[in-house]
Amino acid sequence: MPLDFVSMEGREMLEDLRIGSGVPDVKGSAPVALLACVPSAECGCPEELWRIDGVQALIHFEEDGACEAFLFAGDWEAERTFDCKSMPALRAALFAWVAEIFDDTGEAKGDEGV
Ligand SMILES: [Zn+2]
Repeated sequence: MPLDFVSMEGREMLEDLRIGSGVPDVKGSAPVALLACVPSAECGCPEELWRIDGVQALIHFEEDGACEAFLFAGDWEAERTFDCKSMPALRAALFAWVAEIFDDTGEAKGDEGV
């Protein structure tokens, strides 16, 4: 994960939180970002599109708990269902899944996620 990203909001907050200056200039794009938060075009269920370290992740929340998550990494894709009772729980499951797939080097493990 790059260590050289600062948003406008983050810069203001860091300047308040830190003693002294030293907040770098705003640049780059967030390594983790919520890109969209919309109802599904097909069934109206809540969906969120995330970017997590270069991987696009779409999560689809179903009221009955049979939620779906899709990862799109360019050269590979993966999908999985999660039994979650809330969108925050589905988000947590998504991030845990992404952490399982990637090893410490940030590279996808060879036998997973394909
Ligand atoms: Zn649905």
